[in-house]
Amino acid sequence: MIQIAIDGPSGAGKSTVAKALAARLGIVYVDTGALYRTIGYAAVSRGIATKDAMALEALLPELQIDVRYENGIQCVYLNGENLGDRIRRPEISMAASDVSAIPAVRAFLLDTQREIARKNNVVMDGRDIGTVILPDADVKIFMFASAEARARRRTLELEQKGMPADYEDVLREMKERDAQDSGRAIAPAVPAEDAVMLDNSELDIEGSVAAVIAIMKQKLGEDALAWE
Ligand code: C5P
Repeated sequence: MIQIAIDGPSGAGKSTVAKALAARLGIVYVDTGALYRTIGYAAVSRGIATKDAMALEALLPELQIDVRYENGIQCVYLNGENLGDRIRRPEISMAASDVSAIPAVRAFLLDTQREIARKNNVVMDGRDIGTVILPDADVKIFMFASAEARARRRTLELEQKGMPADYEDVLREMKERDAQDSGRAIAPAVPAEDAVMLDNSELDIEGSVAAVIAIMKQKLGEDALAWE
C-alpha cells in the first residue's frame, strides 16, 4: 500500500493536484475536507452553532457518514443522502473550519480516514494527514501559496461552479480561515517534520503535479510511478 499525504492551507490547489496525481497513478484520491464540510453542513442545516462543542458532540451520534467512490469520484453521504456540491458553499467552508477545531469531531472522523488508507493506495489531502492521520505516509508534502494567489484561484473556481463570489470577500475569508486552522490547539494545519515544502504560487496545475512527481521520485526512487 502506498500513502501520499498532501497538507496545506485552503486554496493551495491540493485537491486539484491530488486528484490529477491519483488519476495518473491509478490510486484513490481522498478529500478529507469534505468530511469536515459534511459535519459543518449538518450543524448549519439543524441550526446548531458551529463553535458549540457540546452541541456538536451531542449531534455526532446522529450522523452516519459514508465515503463512496462513484465513477472514480468521491461522494460523501450524510445519513444516506449524497450532499454533492452543497458542502462547497462559502458559509460551509467556515462552518467546516469551526467544527474541525472540536476534538470530538476530529476523533469521530479519524477511523473513517484511516480505514480508507488501510484498504487502498491513496493520495489524501487535508490539514493533518502527515502529522496525525497517516504519520507513516510514504510521501508527505505541504503545499502552499500566497493568500492572494489562493484567493484568485478560489474565486475563479466558485465562478466556474456557478457560485460567483467577490475576490476581496474570498481573500478576507481565506485569511480568517487560515488563522483559525493553523492557530487551533488540536491538529493545527502545520507541516509534518518530514514533509517536503512546496510553494506553488507561481505554478499552474501541470507545474504543481510535475513538482509533486519530482518529490515522489526523490523520496521513492525513479520507479515511484511504476507500481500497480
Ligand atoms: O480542504 P477544505 O477547504 O475542504 O477543508 C474545509 C475545512 O476543514 C478546513 O478549513 C479545515 O478547517 C478543515 N479540515 C481539517 N482537517 C483536514 C481537512 C480539512 O481540519 N484534514
